[in-house]
Amino acid sequence: MKCHLNKLVYKGLIIFLMMSLIPPNVLAEESMLPEAPIYIDDEPINTKYLMRNNHLLVPALFFKHSGALVDWDKEYQSVVFQAKEKKIALPVGKKFTDEYVRANNTWKRGTLTTEAIEFKGQIFVPLVDVAEKLGMIVRYDQELNRTFITSNITVRPNSIKKGNTSKKLVALTFDDGPEAFYTPQILDILKTKGVPATFFVMGQKLRSHPEIMQRIVNEGHAIGNHTFNHPDLRKQWSSTVREEIIKTQQEMIQVIGRKPDVFRPPYGAVTKADVKILNDLWMRNIMWSVDTLDWSGASAEQILEIVNNKTTPGGIVLQHNFQEGRLLDGSVKALPQIIDDLQKRGYQFVTIQTLLAQ
Ligand SMILES: [Zn+2]
Repeated sequence: MKCHLNKLVYKGLIIFLMMSLIPPNVLAEESMLPEAPIYIDDEPINTKYLMRNNHLLVPALFFKHSGALVDWDKEYQSVVFQAKEKKIALPVGKKFTDEYVRANNTWKRGTLTTEAIEFKGQIFVPLVDVAEKLGMIVRYDQELNRTFITSNITVRPNSIKKGNTSKKLVALTFDDGPEAFYTPQILDILKTKGVPATFFVMGQKLRSHPEIMQRIVNEGHAIGNHTFNHPDLRKQWSSTVREEIIKTQQEMIQVIGRKPDVFRPPYGAVTKADVKILNDLWMRNIMWSVDTLDWSGASAEQILEIVNNKTTPGGIVLQHNFQEGRLLDGSVKALPQIIDDLQKRGYQFVTIQTLLAQ
């Protein structure tokens, strides 16, 4: 009974959205697609959406925020969702689903209220259908004019912004290398000062600069995985996310004979599904507590001010050793002073691995 009621209320939402949020005749351009927050497990996720045949469609990848794995099956031209024991495939343009039955290892055909469609290179799927088939609960709150999804998926939280805050330790981290222009300068400074750091490296860069990577390791610095090609993981199929991480791990083994257990996502962006993959691979997701904004071309003075103001015990400082437009002069210039200033305040520099072991 409750379920039917929700559906009725949902219809109300759809009509309301159609009338209020979508100006007529603007759906032709993706940039004009309306955007609204939809709550998953009480967290607002901003998403583009489409209305079609009175149904609300969202990008298939939106479901990664629920913790479900989302993939593309090229052979069957289908989006495949996986959540806990459930696995369903939606062939694009077809008004049915194929649902995996684990008990006898077969697929069963199910119905859809509306089909998945491709729109400007993105696959959109019916929100309510997919959520319900994956065992989620969808509720529309008319008073708040908001849609809430209870995913019923538990993903162990795995994002670290800081280490132990009771010790005056700090970790310097450098992303996006290795490369041959800034990295040697940074390594020279760290060597002179006798300070270890952590480098989150891209597989692709590692492949083209193995000798710099070797130097990083030889000089006692720690390493972390920063994907192979630096994509925004939120916009990638789950299998691509996994490949990006594993391919980089394999490249690490090739070049230095071992692989790290720490990872940093490009742009610091992950969905719950990406975190699930990291958990499966036994990798810790390392964020930061101090963002130097060095990639933006900030001056040494600006960077010093940020680091000195924002660093607290257990801090993780985000810096870069590669930037496409070579805007890291300020960052390199600030580094010796960052080290001197923080040491004067009683801080000790450690690698991420040491910081997390405290
Ligand atoms: Zn990066």
